[in-house]
Amino acid sequence: MLVDAHCHLTGSYLAAEQVEATLVRARAHGVCGFIAVGTDLEDSRAVLALAAQTPGVQASLGVHPHEAKSWTPEVGAELALLLADPAVRFVGETGLDWHYDLSPRLEQEHAFRAQIRLAKALGKPLMIHTRSAPQATLQILEEEGAAAVRGIIHCFSEDQAFARRALDLGFFLSFSGIATFKKAEAVRQVAAWAPADRILVETDAPFLAPVPYRGKPNEPGFVRFTAEAVAELRGIPPQKLAELTTRNLEALCGWAPSS
Ligand SMILES: [Zn+2]
Ligand SMILES: [Zn+2]
Repeated sequence: MLVDAHCHLTGSYLAAEQVEATLVRARAHGVCGFIAVGTDLEDSRAVLALAAQTPGVQASLGVHPHEAKSWTPEVGAELALLLADPAVRFVGETGLDWHYDLSPRLEQEHAFRAQIRLAKALGKPLMIHTRSAPQATLQILEEEGAAAVRGIIHCFSEDQAFARRALDLGFFLSFSGIATFKKAEAVRQVAAWAPADRILVETDAPFLAPVPYRGKPNEPGFVRFTAEAVAELRGIPPQKLAELTTRNLEALCGWAPSS
């Protein structure tokens, strides 16, 4: 039994009428748990509604760094109300994206720090997105005391030095389809090396489909291929990798799918 630790199942990412069939296909691949992630206030509302009515789906709500320009005190207050729901297991995705720079960097930092504080106030772990800003991301997590709540470095795409500092903060590393790409040597090396009790797998669907579906739309069932690749890198059976990643998610957020 596998859990997809980060996927997008709402709004512009997946049409509502396709959700059920997508999750049926995922279960056929042995994927029974899904952390559905919201990227702005409106999407977070949709994710929470989906989690409330869909067995096996739990929520991660936040404002993505791309959407940080939408952050206001009112958005923060509204988000805080949604985050209090027990089906919400993570705060985010939040973090820094200096690759696309779709929001000004200062606004990304402001929304990031505010969401870390919300996570600490609620006692819920963080879902971190970081791209082309490794040092700033780690520095903010350290300065804000994110170790108190821990969280996931989602779609891990950094190196071992970054991984060490994230692990020191108590964070978990979630591997995506990138771990199936032969040329992604640094990520594959970390996937082989990271402590067994700190690794997770995800799709980030609809993005970043793993081999053999690379370049096609991704869906949660395909986390199976990433899990198989990570298991091979670590020299363990896929079944074992499935067990430990499911157990790790439960250790971090207190939830595991029931079947
Ligand atoms: Zn992300
Ligand atoms: Zn995402």
